[in-house]
Amino acid sequence: MSNSTSVVEELLTAIPQLRPRLYFKTSLTALSHAMEDHILAGVGGALVVASFQQERFYLQEASRYLRIADLSDQIYVLSAAGTSFTSRSENYETIAFEAEDALVHEWHLVVISDNYQACLICRERPAHDDSEQSSLDQNRRFEGIWTQDPYVTQRSADILLDRIAQYRPDILNKVQSAKARYLFPAAMPSERLDGKGNPDPFTQRLVTYLQAGQYKLLKAYKAIAAQEQRERLVNSITSVIRQSLNATEIFEKAASELGQALNVCRCLIYPCAATDATATIEYEHRQPTVESLLGETWPLATSPLFDYVQDTKDIVAIPDTHDPESPFRYELDAIRLLLDRWRIQSWLMAPLTYQGRLVGMIELHHCQANPYEWTEDDKELVDAIAAQLSVAIIQAEAYANLQDLNRQLEALDLTRANLIAITGHELRTPLSTIQVCLESLSTEPDMPAELRQVMIQAALEDAERMRKLVQDFLTLSKLESGRVEWNMEALSIQECVDLALSSVNAHNTGAPVSNIKVKIPKSAPLVRADGEWLVEVLVKLLDNASKFTPAGGRITIQVTRSSPTHLQVTIADTGRGIEPSRLDAVFDRFYQEEGALRRTTGGTGLGLAMCRQIVEGLGGTIWADSEGKNKGSQFHFTVPIAQGKGDSRSRNSLGNRHPQRTGQPATLPGNPSVLLDD
Ligand code: ADP
Repeated sequence: MSNSTSVVEELLTAIPQLRPRLYFKTSLTALSHAMEDHILAGVGGALVVASFQQERFYLQEASRYLRIADLSDQIYVLSAAGTSFTSRSENYETIAFEAEDALVHEWHLVVISDNYQACLICRERPAHDDSEQSSLDQNRRFEGIWTQDPYVTQRSADILLDRIAQYRPDILNKVQSAKARYLFPAAMPSERLDGKGNPDPFTQRLVTYLQAGQYKLLKAYKAIAAQEQRERLVNSITSVIRQSLNATEIFEKAASELGQALNVCRCLIYPCAATDATATIEYEHRQPTVESLLGETWPLATSPLFDYVQDTKDIVAIPDTHDPESPFRYELDAIRLLLDRWRIQSWLMAPLTYQGRLVGMIELHHCQANPYEWTEDDKELVDAIAAQLSVAIIQAEAYANLQDLNRQLEALDLTRANLIAITGHELRTPLSTIQVCLESLSTEPDMPAELRQVMIQAALEDAERMRKLVQDFLTLSKLESGRVEWNMEALSIQECVDLALSSVNAHNTGAPVSNIKVKIPKSAPLVRADGEWLVEVLVKLLDNASKFTPAGGRITIQVTRSSPTHLQVTIADTGRGIEPSRLDAVFDRFYQEEGALRRTTGGTGLGLAMCRQIVEGLGGTIWADSEGKNKGSQFHFTVPIAQGKGDSRSRNSLGNRHPQRTGQPATLPGNPSVLLDD
């Protein structure tokens, strides 16, 4: 037998003045025991109706009911049917209801005797969330009536006895005689009834204390549950980000995990340093309804809010970016367009710092119309993730540096191997020549003067070849190891080209340099570079162009503005050209088309590798173009344009170092390792 109507509802409908209250399970247990104790204390012949939600709750009290049954024959116990709980008439009446019955959610106890009557008619409230569900059984909450009012008690008994008759028609007569004996007309209460007017102040006080204690406990449980949930979240996010040493993967995972955990409209994470003017948004988690910021350039230097966060190294949480009373209204006004463009209603910024250094930023956005109040829990969670993320970023950075270092070591190893190979040929060959020449000169004093001169000349040329190789090799090593201190200043590109041309001309004293045409606009802005190294690049490229261009060919130097920030210098020739597939390889160390062992043009194979190091060190790029064999080559490189007043101060300093004008040795002052001329 099953009835889906709630007894609590039936009672509240019958007596609308009743105001149900909230009771914790602990309070109901105490009240039930107090009511039962009244009977056990000697109130004979009482009517007792008790309804348990489940058999196991009944079993905990079964021995009490055996003792109560000694004092009265009008005891009715209801419970969900179980292995031992069935409907029968033994020491007292037991009434089993089915699992679908509304009583499964209810807790009732009615006691009526000549001088005491009380009832407890309650229904369990479903838990609101997982944290409540998972907390203790004691925190279960019920809603209903506890009263000693005769009318309410008898109405409750009436409803329950009707149910009993419905479930157990076999004891209908007994139920009816109980009604006749215990239910006499009592006055219907006219006032609001919520159990506070009960005549038993002791029990009333006890329940109040119990309820208050339980509230405190519940609050504590909730705080612990929230803390536990936060820790679980931090751990799971941490373990996800710690599984990788790849910065991209770490940022992506952290943004997605944090965004989901806090259910924000957007979660952005970007690496940045205190001095960065802008950041590019590369990692984002967002709700599908919100516009993506991926690839956008985020202003940092012009955002006073960014300044504030990086100064204080603290989280800033703004519930309403449109609030005229917000303590950050001035900072927000400075970026109002941005806020409106991306509909950022509530904003949280958390800096990622490591040992006081800013390494990145977490941003959370809510874009719905209503402001979102960031909770302490939100902030604590973001703070904990920020701490973990900063460490993960530093580790990833260190790992990347390590990999970089490994690559450099591998490159160094290759250099060493190449050095050994090249030494075999480049150093041994000229050394043998020098040795043969010197031996001949010393063993044959009668050698004709003409031949003697040839011998001396050959020895000198090969000594020079060796010196150049050693010199280039040392310079490249210095550039590659990053030990170069760039002396940046504002320079005229025209002056640099003039200097390079005179150096190349002085250098090629024998064979005339091919026809070199210079196209530099008069309006070309100053460049910002280290003059000695810039001239070095021009000299090397011009040297190559003339070396690989036969007599009658043409060489052109052209300067154009390739972008608002850079000038582009192109040195083109009509010489032997480069296979398109080798255009990148020519910048490798020791690359020579014919191979070092069959080289006919002289050179070390280090020139372009040095040019690449220098150009990149100055903040530009270098590349080669050619349509193929015998179709000429073009070498291009870019160099930053000088900006600001400070840059123009030293624009003439290069002129003072002009080797032609001074007639001084070719080494430029300030950087003795760089030889421009012999
Ligand atoms: P090298 O001392 O051999 O000139 P570089 O590093 O300057 O060393 O040049 C590497 C190689 O690139 C050269 O050996 C040559 O094969 C090729 N190369 C450089 N410049 C030119 C050019 N202007 N035309 C054709 N080939 C060139």
